[in-house]
Amino acid sequence: MPIAKNLTEIKKTLPPQVTLVAVSKTKPVHDLMEAYEAGQRIFGENKIQEMTDKWEQMPKDIQWHMIGHVQTNKVKYMAPYVSLIHGVDSFKLLKEINKQAAKNNRVIDCLLQIYIAEEESKFGLDEKELNDILGSDEFKELKNIKIVGLMGMATFTESEAQINKEFSNLKKIFDNTKQHTAENCQISILSMGMSGDYQIAIENGSTMVRIGSSIFGSRK
Ligand SMILES: *Cc1c(COP(=O)(O)O)cnc(C)c1O
Repeated sequence: MPIAKNLTEIKKTLPPQVTLVAVSKTKPVHDLMEAYEAGQRIFGENKIQEMTDKWEQMPKDIQWHMIGHVQTNKVKYMAPYVSLIHGVDSFKLLKEINKQAAKNNRVIDCLLQIYIAEEESKFGLDEKELNDILGSDEFKELKNIKIVGLMGMATFTESEAQINKEFSNLKKIFDNTKQHTAENCQISILSMGMSGDYQIAIENGSTMVRIGSSIFGSRK
């Protein structure tokens, strides 16, 4: 039972304030069920179609986190059930999530994704764009979303110093963001850290780690 064993080993290393998202993208339901049987209830996926297929097949007490880049036209498929959307990187997307959440009579928790890496390929907002969104009157009108924190990804590099610098930068932005308070903005979650860098993320104040390959094995 390598999955259950991996899960237990990783959980042992996590401080109590850190939530584990088991990143199960590309993995079959059978593998997710093994983690479920071992007690895991939060799963992260990066494709809406795949997440929805798994949601339909699996127990209903699972919390599904969307950790990937979200296309506006697909929000409607996950709006009935998604528990947390990590990768919100535009006001336009946030408004669409609000609209679809309203149709489903619910409030959807979201994280704003912040760009901290040196890579061109990573999505996210900079600190000014973040403050522009949270400070706007239009934002305060969105009653069916709640911003509960920030998410970021470090550069894919061997350099621990570089990763450390990027995570510490995100922590600073996170602390500054707490000044924004509104009914739909209650910042408490800092989602940073994956299999290769989650220890560094935790040292820098992460409260939520997204771990895939160290639990389920490498992906093709
Ligand atoms: C795939 C993915 C992860 C997990 O990556 P591992 O290296 O397998 O732990 C975490 N966060 C995001 C946004 C991902 O896309």
